[in-house]
Amino acid sequence: MPAGKYWKPEIETLPRAELEALQLSSLRDELDHAYANSPYYRRSFDAAGLKPEDVRSLSDIVKFPFIDKKTQRDAQGVGSFLGELAAVPEEEVVFVSTSSGSTGVPTMSPFTKKDFDEFQDVESRWFWQASMRPNDRYVHALNFSLYVGGPDVIGAQNLGALCIWGGTLPSERLIFVLKAYQPTCIWTSPSYAWYLGETCVKNGVDPRKDLSIKKIFVAGEMGGSIGATRKAIEDLWGAELFDFYGLSDIFGACAAQCEVHDGLHIAEDHILVETVDLDTGEVIEPGKRGELVYTTLRKKARPMIRFRTGDIGWIDYTPCPCGRTHGRIHVDGRKDDMFIVSAVNVYPSDIEYVIRGLTEVTGEYKIRIYERDFTCKFEVTVENAGGKSDDEVASRVSDALRARIGVKPAKVVVLPDGSIERSTHKAKRIVDERTHTAAK
Ligand SMILES: [Zn+2]
Repeated sequence: MPAGKYWKPEIETLPRAELEALQLSSLRDELDHAYANSPYYRRSFDAAGLKPEDVRSLSDIVKFPFIDKKTQRDAQGVGSFLGELAAVPEEEVVFVSTSSGSTGVPTMSPFTKKDFDEFQDVESRWFWQASMRPNDRYVHALNFSLYVGGPDVIGAQNLGALCIWGGTLPSERLIFVLKAYQPTCIWTSPSYAWYLGETCVKNGVDPRKDLSIKKIFVAGEMGGSIGATRKAIEDLWGAELFDFYGLSDIFGACAAQCEVHDGLHIAEDHILVETVDLDTGEVIEPGKRGELVYTTLRKKARPMIRFRTGDIGWIDYTPCPCGRTHGRIHVDGRKDDMFIVSAVNVYPSDIEYVIRGLTEVTGEYKIRIYERDFTCKFEVTVENAGGKSDDEVASRVSDALRARIGVKPAKVVVLPDGSIERSTHKAKRIVDERTHTAAK
């Protein structure tokens, strides 16, 4: 068990030059393995006239073709149960998760025993970084069914914490667990952390006084990295909130916030990060917003070489005050959620940022995207927190949105407090009524 603030100091604080040298040797091994064992990669590298030994520096990765969700779906089940992207026989695979299928047919993500153990060691790293220690009691309140975030609880167990496998318990039952066992940490989604805290209060339980939660881990939505959302949840619980970020295609959590809460350290010993232009696929310099592209460096069951994640964000390589040398990603949203109004790219996370920062509204919201005369428009529904007229609230929201994103919503609908349904799981805040697919 580590004695200090880092789980694996020799990896987490490795000087950048050494970290990049490690990435390069791992990348060569990963490409060798993919080329030798995956029918898909052998064919695609051959078609591009590339051999793994063509990689002499990390930037040579740009020569290789992208893959995306569609590649995964097309390769799935072809030739074998695990499909053409896989690079090991089925008998070496011990675990598969599947994606939610939110962008189509669910895709399956296989792990060898070593992949799985390394995945859990990365989870231990994030828990330790978020100050979990062996004397903590932890409720893992994430879905266990098929979902890659389910097994993350093993990372907490390997760290030595007492783990309660909560899963998606009904709220009353979960509140019973919180009261009876007084756990100190919980992992859930931001919207559910908010809903659960409010439900406690309604039932006469003060999360700050009657419960012992001191650390909340969240993932699956943007809120954990939006300062005002984080502060609201922290105030409700009297706890510190840490944002985690995962992809079913890689790990339950590939990146997580440290105590500085400014971006999420990504496990660069496992993942090579690129940022590319959304339309052209050209590589963008670090620090600029684009689509995040990941290459796995150690995964054996199914290497992911230049996987276009559909996540929009940027990476920061400036030194973090926490002393960790791994870059920090900032994820703004999904490419699929972005919409264009009057030639301006609008990200739902920017709308949330504005709404959660205004005292005139409760923080709950919905976004409706629709078309009029072949033009994309959006409407925002909020709740009046009291104190101002609905008209005043509407114009405040409208002005604040224009100041942040550059365009006004077509309409702001203001409802009384409590009118918007509170989410018990991943919040569905966006209603997209567009039928003209070219506009998406
Ligand atoms: Zn840090």
